[in-house]
Amino acid sequence: MADPDDDYGKTNCIRCGDCCEPFIMEEEFVERFRSCFQRPVLREQHFPRINAALVRTTDNKCVFLFPDNTCSVYKSRPEFPCRMFGIPHYLECPKVTPEGKMRSKEEYEQIIAKNMDRSQWTEEFRRKLDELAEKRVEEMIRKQKKECNELLKRIQY
Ligand code: SF4
Ligand code: SF4
Repeated sequence: MADPDDDYGKTNCIRCGDCCEPFIMEEEFVERFRSCFQRPVLREQHFPRINAALVRTTDNKCVFLFPDNTCSVYKSRPEFPCRMFGIPHYLECPKVTPEGKMRSKEEYEQIIAKNMDRSQWTEEFRRKLDELAEKRVEEMIRKQKKECNELLKRIQY
């Protein structure tokens, strides 16, 4: 869901909730906000190697989406993809134009297809994703170093 007041600029989000599907999120994030789940969970998948989880719901909507299509973790929602939707330079909103005009069904489908097609992503969006990936790798290395140090300490005593 787009944030009309966030750093990426103004949007015309009408809170239709269409872009709030189940996404892979940081494992810690899912655990920290488990009490904010709003929908019946169909199943959870956990990917320890990349420290991520995917929570699937019975209606294929994000588990944090309230029935009125607002977000139960809005202030803390993840950067990717939640804070990037509705921003023309990142992921374009399929429902409303940047000028606030409702899109036709055909336009809606075209934009969904474009958003899914990695080759169409702008340089700026790719750069942002690369930054996030680097941040995650750095974080993983830092964690692994810490675990190694702790293990070494335990071996020494
Ligand atoms: S699809 Fe567009 S209008 Fe609907 S919630 Fe997402 S950003 Fe808002
Ligand atoms: S965390 Fe919030 S903004 Fe992100 S997909 Fe879920 S409901 Fe939408």
